Amino acid sequence: MNDSADKAQDREDMVRLQIAGRGIEDERVLSAMRSVPRHAFVPHNLGEFAYQDGPLPIGEGQTISQPYIVAAMMEAARIERASKVLEIGAGSGYAAAVAGKLAAQVIAVERHHTLVNSARERMRALGYHNVDIREGDGCDGLAEEAPFDAILVAAGAPVVPEKLKEQLKIGGRLVIPVGDERLQELQVILREGENRYSEKSIGKVRFVPLVGQGAWPDPDAADEEQPDSTLPAMIRKQSVPLPDPHDPDFGAAFDRYADRRIVLLGESSHGTREFYRARAAITRHLVEKHGFSIVAVEADWPDAGAIDRFIRDRPSLDGRAEPFARFPRWMWRNPEIAELARWLRDRNRGLDEDSKTGFYGLDLYNMTASIDEVLAYLDHVDPDAAEVARERYGCLTPWQHDPASYGRSALSMGFAQCESDVVSQLTQLLEQRLEYEASDGAYFLDAVQNARLIASAEKYYRIMYYGGSESWNLRDSHMCDTLTHLLDHGGPDAKAVVWAHNSHIGDARATEMGRSGEHNLGQLCRERFGDDVVSIGFGTHTGTVSAASRWGGEREVKRVAPSREDSYEHQFHLSGCDRCLLDLGPSLSADLRSALEKPRIERFIGVIYRPETELLSHYSEAVLTDQFDGLVWFDTTTALEPLPENPVSLDDDAAGAVPDTFPFGV
Ligand code: SAH
Repeated sequence: MNDSADKAQDREDMVRLQIAGRGIEDERVLSAMRSVPRHAFVPHNLGEFAYQDGPLPIGEGQTISQPYIVAAMMEAARIERASKVLEIGAGSGYAAAVAGKLAAQVIAVERHHTLVNSARERMRALGYHNVDIREGDGCDGLAEEAPFDAILVAAGAPVVPEKLKEQLKIGGRLVIPVGDERLQELQVILREGENRYSEKSIGKVRFVPLVGQGAWPDPDAADEEQPDSTLPAMIRKQSVPLPDPHDPDFGAAFDRYADRRIVLLGESSHGTREFYRARAAITRHLVEKHGFSIVAVEADWPDAGAIDRFIRDRPSLDGRAEPFARFPRWMWRNPEIAELARWLRDRNRGLDEDSKTGFYGLDLYNMTASIDEVLAYLDHVDPDAAEVARERYGCLTPWQHDPASYGRSALSMGFAQCESDVVSQLTQLLEQRLEYEASDGAYFLDAVQNARLIASAEKYYRIMYYGGSESWNLRDSHMCDTLTHLLDHGGPDAKAVVWAHNSHIGDARATEMGRSGEHNLGQLCRERFGDDVVSIGFGTHTGTVSAASRWGGEREVKRVAPSREDSYEHQFHLSGCDRCLLDLGPSLSADLRSALEKPRIERFIGVIYRPETELLSHYSEAVLTDQFDGLVWFDTTTALEPLPENPVSLDDDAAGAVPDTFPFGV
């Protein structure tokens, strides 16, 4: 198939699945959607995404609407062959072109000069001679061309502008998104008589804001007046440029935080190589120069334990499941972690046991491996107790392969089936502490943490079934408790570096999470450790990222859409810093603090990234200065690559040496 036949097929599929499939029936609308080449309306590098089910950036911080929304608006406007149509917000010109297929005459107004030029050029090149693109503010409509059979507004307005209603013919329809800057109702207003209008809403939508008199203020206007005090200019001035993470000076920029007991290092995606490299460089520096001896990460305890054994030159455990086998494998099986593990091992080799750095997991998902480890430990130190433990954990056996189903079962049985078993097991282990430590002290902490994980996971999977904030809260409480146990275990001088997603380490009270009753590791640490903790967020504007399209799906390298104009990220992008640290502590100027205190949206990419629904699924409102104590910025980032599925060995200098070749499953 040649390219255009390919595209026609994509369009056919788009119409069938996204448009007709969602209930649009008007044959004329469907046929117009089939014929307008949407790929010619998006930037070249996004052409391959043109027929996907979402909006796409078109420059100037604006977007081309989702195909379905365009079709829904056209259908709601009841455009006829002889109609005269006004569109406000021409953007790429796509919707205007679709309207051009349906109506006799279309006039589309756009306020951004560059978009006007490119839309006009497209109309000319594609031969849409009945579509006229005009530059200007469309909030007041276009009185000189009125009345119209239909008026379509492609940007969200705070209220319905009266002037637009007045420019409708009797019997004409105005379709306009009305609401706040983030969420609107798509309203259809029918002019029934001279002064009679009826109104209905056809669903919730998210459009870019309608900017102008009577609508939203122009976000760029204030900036143009005072160029030196713009937010990006202040960010640029007050941030510290950072070298490449491989440069030995990278870590030194973080000396300012070295007096804290806990340094929380975030990430705004689970698949960005720069964030791993930066965190590894900071970790090495804090370990080497400032006595940090705990590295705790958002991985499961038993899995991280495999790395801990590796860096302490302890043998790997026989018969245990492969670590980090759970989705998403790329998070820990990657060259950056392998390199850090090797570095920690080499450094530990010269030290006595108490001074060695440890590597620990704060998360609670891998209940099966934890059960195996507690049983193996007890088999070793107290075989009788192991028998009892087998019985107790046996309660969870039926659900081990699908722990999520435990919640459903516990619910239908009406009680927390296994709770008392797992709690007694933990209590008993703790009661035997002195005895067990005397016999096998090195692994006691490991066994207890595994028992704690099982107790938390039992509850987690049980309440997960109800949804809501409780299971998230339990998970983050478990992380903070685990970190606290590690610090207690390490004694009063113990210091920890923590790696977890921004959503865990940034203070939940400063984000939408807090409003919906969720707390997180960052908040709990601040409450528990006060000024002894510092939380550093990480962010990026664009690039590529490793992520899946759904839970359990394949890793894909996805393009990170440029940050939205109304986001914090966009302000950092405009600052022109490629790589920098902005300390949000007391050294921040009052001006910059108050500018950053204004809530903005911030992007959160986890292991799943859906750029097509980015605003809804990945952006959330935050107050940056309350959320973090510092932000590390990489303007452009690249996807984290996993290690090959069957790596030869982590240990590059001892091919064939068995015990220390773990942890990535040789
Ligand atoms: N229909 C467009 C969608 C563009 S997004 C398409 O198919 O590509 C909305 C557009 O409205 C943006 O380009 C924005 O610049 C424009 N806009 C916002 N306020 C406006 C106003 N008052 N007058 C004219 N255009 C406006």
